[in-house]
Amino acid sequence: MRRESRGTLVIDVERCKGCELCIPACPPKVLSMSTISNHHGYLYPELSPGCTGCTACQQVCPDYVFEVYRYQTPVMAVVDTEAA
Ligand code: SF4
Ligand code: SF4
Repeated sequence: MRRESRGTLVIDVERCKGCELCIPACPPKVLSMSTISNHHGYLYPELSPGCTGCTACQQVCPDYVFEVYRYQTPVMAVVDTEAA
């Protein structure tokens, strides 16, 4: 299936402490924790297609991990529905 992204993130994974607050805070549920850890030993969020640029993750993160950008024109991506 195709999924529209209206925003994207820069994720500073080395700042992340792995608290997972951002995961349920994302309305379209496009954040999931990594399976490998950063240099401090913490898992960190990864972004799948479908970000709306709402900034909820940025607002909830205590460690300023996220920068949020909105696309002027939405970007379409093909996603694996079994993995999504
Ligand atoms: S900006 Fe909003 S939609 Fe995008 S990843 Fe963060 S919480 Fe999810
Ligand atoms: S809220 Fe911030 S510190 Fe916590 S897991 Fe998400 S990115 Fe990492």
